[in-house]
Amino acid sequence: MPADLIPENHVIVIFGGNGDLARRKLLPALYHLHAEGLMPRRWRIIGNSRRELEGPFDEVARKAVEEFGRCCIDEDAWEVFASRLSYMSHDFTPADPGPLRDAVAEAEREIGGEPSRLYYLSVPPSAFGTITDALGKSGMTDRSRVVFEKPFGVDQASFEELDATVRRALDEEQVYRIDHFLGKETLQNVLALRFANGMFEPIWNRGHIDHVQIDVPESLGIGTRASFYEPTGALRDMVVTHLLQVLSVIAMEPPTAFEPKPLLDEKAKVFESMAPVRASDLVRGQFDGYTDLDGVAADSQTETFVAARVRVDNWRWAGVPFYLRTGKRMAASRQTVTLAFAEPPMQMFRDLPQDRLPNDHLTLDLAGDEGITLSFLAKVPGPAVRLGPARMTFSYEGSFGSEAIGPYERLLHDALMGDRTLFTRADGIARTWELVSGVLRSPPPLHRYPQGSWGPGAAMDLIAPRRWHLPEPEPEPE
Ligand code: NAP
Repeated sequence: MPADLIPENHVIVIFGGNGDLARRKLLPALYHLHAEGLMPRRWRIIGNSRRELEGPFDEVARKAVEEFGRCCIDEDAWEVFASRLSYMSHDFTPADPGPLRDAVAEAEREIGGEPSRLYYLSVPPSAFGTITDALGKSGMTDRSRVVFEKPFGVDQASFEELDATVRRALDEEQVYRIDHFLGKETLQNVLALRFANGMFEPIWNRGHIDHVQIDVPESLGIGTRASFYEPTGALRDMVVTHLLQVLSVIAMEPPTAFEPKPLLDEKAKVFESMAPVRASDLVRGQFDGYTDLDGVAADSQTETFVAARVRVDNWRWAGVPFYLRTGKRMAASRQTVTLAFAEPPMQMFRDLPQDRLPNDHLTLDLAGDEGITLSFLAKVPGPAVRLGPARMTFSYEGSFGSEAIGPYERLLHDALMGDRTLFTRADGIARTWELVSGVLRSPPPLHRYPQGSWGPGAAMDLIAPRRWHLPEPEPEPE
């Protein structure tokens, strides 16, 4: 591995080391980084949460990697990985930071020298403030970076409170607010597509693009996470975080350099240009049967579905609607961004396919088989002039012979390297909470939708006369 990709020596503390995210994403990602030679030369991982584990931490981690890792375990690599894991059950507070502080000091002695510290807060947002405060007051923030899971706050007021606590304990350069959508290969590829080629950027504007869709339907429900989901809902969980972050990458102006400050400055300008979301531009839905779930109130008004129409009022995008949609228990799980091109000024072909609005579009797939597809009309071979849908597809495997790297792997490596380019900044997040504060205060009514559907009919009305790109129409019979 090239030396410039190897991070300095580190002690990594995962707060919430026994939680869902640690098991599904963080431990597998750290193992894969280790197996690929992308971890520091010397490192330790300490898992922390308040409760005791049911078994040894290395067994918990092994099960997690077996179940959720992206490929099989190499036994030699695993042996080394497992030997560097430890676990400390301890309620880490400003009043009692001692046991964890001692565990970090012990790991540092084993590593030798003055290793860096990476603290990963994979805990409920309500615990962010206490842990940050404890890190600051116990003197553990030297040589450290802190990764905060999303959501960073749950509304404008809680964002401001948490931000103040974070600023008291840490310098902004130490803060890594993660949104794993920003670590997706295809989203990073938007920057390459737009700014490394001469082809796309000239048409990436209101003159050529009719509208943009950011669509993240999920077939899964809320599992056993009712206590998290009930006070949160789809607007906070997905829109204020992932969907608006994706929007900022699609809509941003060219940064002066591919470096954290210029990139984050451009994203912040997108959020600044956006108009606050109005209730009339928002559809909230709840799937049938949600209120029967354990932990859900019988009269719950929590939305499990959101569709929104938002505006970016700047010279590039004025008049181009951005449609956002996400929901639980929908007909499929996809993560797509579709840029629909404007219709040509005149049409000389007759009998165009009618249900394919728009006929030409660029679709970015951010999950599963990540890739980029350009869809357009082409002449169907034969004696008659008949047009049909055609596609050009870019896939990672096809072009580079390798799969897209997982977003948590990418972002954990970036955090270990001290690269904040793909993380979010406080001013951007503050603005996203401001954009939705009106509809959080006075939400529009809730519509029911059947499980396994594409959401309430009102979401189709919101986008009409256009239509959602998903579900893709069935291919025409040969
Ligand atoms: P989870 O399964 O409920 O796990 C939370 C973990 O935090 C548990 O290990 C819990 O253990 C620990 N914890 C709670 N309060 C704590 C405290 N005060 N100090 C130390 N540990 C504490 O939640 P999760 O799904 O892993 O989510 C963790 C964070 O990641 C949340 O902010 C969530 O929004 C975010 N996130 C999760 C996902 C996902 O797919 N799961 C995706 C994106 C973002 P104890 O109760 O024993 O302390």
